[in-house]
Amino acid sequence: MTAGALPGATIGVLGSGQLGRMFAIAARRMGYRVHTFSPDYDTPTGQVADIEVTAPYDDLDRVREFAKRVDVVTFEFENVSAAAASAAAEHAPVRPDGNVLFVCQHRVREKAFLSAGGFPVAPYRIIRSEDDLERGIAELGAPAVLKRAGFSYDGKGQARVTSAAEAAAAWSSVGREEAVLEAFVEFDHEASIIVARGLDGATAEYALLRNAHSRHILDHTLLDLAHPAREKAIEIARAIAERLDLVGVLCVELFVMPGGALLVNELAPRPHNSGHLTIDACATSQFEQQLRTVCGLPLGSTRALTGAAMTNLLGDLWSAGEPDWAAACAFSEAKLHIYGKSEARPGRKMGHITALAADPRDALRIAIAARSALTRAVRS
Ligand code: AMP
Repeated sequence: MTAGALPGATIGVLGSGQLGRMFAIAARRMGYRVHTFSPDYDTPTGQVADIEVTAPYDDLDRVREFAKRVDVVTFEFENVSAAAASAAAEHAPVRPDGNVLFVCQHRVREKAFLSAGGFPVAPYRIIRSEDDLERGIAELGAPAVLKRAGFSYDGKGQARVTSAAEAAAAWSSVGREEAVLEAFVEFDHEASIIVARGLDGATAEYALLRNAHSRHILDHTLLDLAHPAREKAIEIARAIAERLDLVGVLCVELFVMPGGALLVNELAPRPHNSGHLTIDACATSQFEQQLRTVCGLPLGSTRALTGAAMTNLLGDLWSAGEPDWAAACAFSEAKLHIYGKSEARPGRKMGHITALAADPRDALRIAIAARSALTRAVRS
């Protein structure tokens, strides 16, 4: 096996959601074949891939079989087990490697990694019992945020604790499992930076992305071409990617404090929801960048071609029937992306809209208006 995989080669994707779908579209455009592996069928990735394998991630023999038929393996979400990543690695390079997954899929390990590297994070304590939690609240003060160490994302497995009296309830709500307690951060806004790092160690970073959440789920993102903390964010993201010895794409989620200081909230060693606008707005999308890194190709330019903003389309938009797609497409600068999920559930990410305009704030207005138009006829 040579280090690189050239067009015509086959990429195996562990996971089958929208991130794998957008990766597969980028890969197929460049002449690669794509196989996807997950417990589901007719998936967002499977609809675009050459081959969709349906098997549990802990069926390590099926993972090995899968890896034998591809030239390189990557993943589209970080909860693939370390065992599955190493079973795949017996037969094909896995990029990023299993150790990166191991660090980033568990908040205690991630915090330990960040602290050891001297990266700025909110004050935190590791919690393994209700006593730990009571002590943690006393030390950090309230309010604070309790986050389960594993399988916790989009606000799931998290509880805000406003006083020591709430310790027992909060501990139960995270399943009485190992967790991290963080001081509540009074940030000015949230941002993210996406960095790609190639097999040769070269890095490329996108402009900062300003993110707004609703119910703990990303609601919209603005491509901030002139963010004052860009240089500092690049320095942090590059250093994290190097310390992880990453080959792939990494998103660093940041809290931007009122004075401009940055705290690292979370790492995602893969393309990220906030980077979806790079498909329409940048010379190279985050998904093509992932492809280039895992295939050992040189990185593409991250240059923004225009200002842009993105709004997520959650399953809630389907509550009164099929959204009015034509109404959103009537916004000529809006680009509709739909993930092919058969069931629309509240809070489920079903698609997104990216809008383009020289000024990203105008783009955001268009993206929000196009999303509103999806349900306007139904509401009126
Ligand atoms: P996470 O899953 O850690 O990204 O958290 C989801 C969202 O909860 C973040 O994007 C923030 O909006 C909010 N959040 C998480 N941790 C904190 C914190 N320590 N202080 C304030 N808000 C937080």
